[in-house]
Amino acid sequence: MTSDKGLLIVLSGPSGVGKGTVRKAIFDHPDTDFKYSISMTTREKREGEVDGVDYFFKSKEEFEALIEQDKFIEYAQYVGNYYGTPVDYVDQTMASGHDVFLEIEVEGAKQVREKFPEALFIFLAPPDLTQLERRLVNRGTDSPEIIRHRIDEAKRELKLMNLYDYVVINDDVDNARQRVQCIVEASHMKRARVESKLRKMLLEVNQ
Ligand code: 5GP
Repeated sequence: MTSDKGLLIVLSGPSGVGKGTVRKAIFDHPDTDFKYSISMTTREKREGEVDGVDYFFKSKEEFEALIEQDKFIEYAQYVGNYYGTPVDYVDQTMASGHDVFLEIEVEGAKQVREKFPEALFIFLAPPDLTQLERRLVNRGTDSPEIIRHRIDEAKRELKLMNLYDYVVINDDVDNARQRVQCIVEASHMKRARVESKLRKMLLEVNQ
């Protein structure tokens, strides 16, 4: 009756909200014992990014071949590029009892919700829209046209926050990191409580 499988944790939210920064803070923290699923993307590698660490960088043709082979649990096109979560790593890691953490945009999160309704969905929201726009502009990694596109996407994505199990406001990276860790901890406790109840019920039924 106990689920030996790990929990699937999905952190999503609009571009520029700081998902990447919060994710890094989570994985730099000694209390974190879940595994990060490295995504594949067709976007250009940014300065300082490392293939196999930040992303697996693929050509469009390679990515589309993997879609054909059903190698993603979800994938989405975002601002002209593909992004996706490789299925093998997630399946194997969860089967070995470890929690897997995905940091993905909202369209991908919707697909994960359909395939893994029992997963934990956390939406990272900005304290306000002005800050989000400022972050996207100040990041300095994208052209004005791409920034405009990302801001439009972000507004659309914000409307979807009520579909998530939890909303965490990213007012401060360390606060957000801590809230995500608490939510995961609480979800484990809840799952253990439900399992123990079901075990008791089964025992009663079998008497
Ligand atoms: P960036 O280009 O800034 O690294 O990422 C752009 C967006 O793609 C971010 O919102 C990021 O969370 C999202 N993303 C990263 N990996 C994946 C993935 O595997 N699947 C989906 N659907 N989105 C992803």
